Amino acid sequence: MRHASLWKGLLRVEQGVLERMEYDSETDTLIFDVRLDRRAGVRCGRCRSPAVGYDQGRARPRCWRGLDVVSTRVLLRARVPRVRCPEHGVTAAAVPWARHGSRFTRAFEDTLAWLATRAAKTTIAALMRTSWRSVGQAVTRVVAELDAAGAEGDRLVGLSRIGIDEVSYRRGHKYLTVVVDHDTGRLVFAGDGRTKKTLGEFFNALGEKGCANLELVSCDGADWIAELVGLRAPQARLCLDPFHVIATAQRALDKIRTGAAREARRRGNQAASRALYRARFALWKNPDDHTDAQAAKLAWVAAEHDKVHKAWQLKEHLRAVFAAGGAEGLALLDTWYRLAETSGLPAFTDYARRLRRFRNDIANTLHAGLANARVEGTNTVIRLLTRVAFGFHSPEPLIALAKLRVGGYHLALPR
Ligand SMILES: [Zn+2]
Repeated sequence: MRHASLWKGLLRVEQGVLERMEYDSETDTLIFDVRLDRRAGVRCGRCRSPAVGYDQGRARPRCWRGLDVVSTRVLLRARVPRVRCPEHGVTAAAVPWARHGSRFTRAFEDTLAWLATRAAKTTIAALMRTSWRSVGQAVTRVVAELDAAGAEGDRLVGLSRIGIDEVSYRRGHKYLTVVVDHDTGRLVFAGDGRTKKTLGEFFNALGEKGCANLELVSCDGADWIAELVGLRAPQARLCLDPFHVIATAQRALDKIRTGAAREARRRGNQAASRALYRARFALWKNPDDHTDAQAAKLAWVAAEHDKVHKAWQLKEHLRAVFAAGGAEGLALLDTWYRLAETSGLPAFTDYARRLRRFRNDIANTLHAGLANARVEGTNTVIRLLTRVAFGFHSPEPLIALAKLRVGGYHLALPR
């Protein structure tokens, strides 16, 4: 074939033998026939260990999509012999230009994974002319390879302060358990499901020494997490994540606000009802960051809707607890319990009763001075990814995407 060595370099198939090229004008595709260089020996496709030849494999060649040349599609085509691996039995031989089981070349897959952490779903699908589902599979394979090379293990070394969280996906029907390092903000573990078994996998990976090194574990107060932490890392102080404490107060406030909006509508005051429905953001936002319009809305709520304003004050009070921290925060917390319990607002009296159980855990949070913003930022990214990952059919691509985005994995574009 003419210019074979130039094409080999362009296609990154240096270790293969390029036999011929054809152009299919109907699909605007360049098709390259390659074969493995027998002198290099054969390896198992799954573990890449040296293996012995078994047979020539399927008669029909396999194809891999490569990076476009200018804007023309590229396909590599080859017959892949089968090998016998001591560990994996009879399986397809490894090809240097692609990962096992993939219909894409390495360079194509690395580009998809790189884009997946930086660009919008529709952008990637249009630019790379591939389905979003294929992007998910590519990201999963890229991350599995990084993990196998030790990326995951590295992240577990020296962990001392961690946050454990449950993240829902598929509109709340499924859950991931995620673990974030408080000191770096990095995602260090993500597993499918919210069970002791899933979290147990994290502690297993951490090992006995790693577990003994944990000083502090923050979580949302779920009993199953507290029980398992007590079992695997009994020396670690349990903290309650401020994020969850305030989010629950926010939901209690929302309940009271929408209740008041319904009440206003019943009394025929449509304007007040609408204004209350639309006040969510103003009541959610930190008042220091209010625009003039939001400040005016809050003043209106204070003047006209006593219950809603009281609920807002209770929510802000909780935020002040964590902003103050230490002994001052704890004193504020005790005041909060008293105010919430006597507020006459069922959503808050219930919440105060539930939160009483966690006074010790909150005290730990306040004394540890947890830099919550970092972990919260990481968890926010993961929650956004659950929406991006909606088109994926299994949790693995979501986990892989989360690792690439906030796990500190380094992924370079092919060059
Ligand atoms: Zn093998």
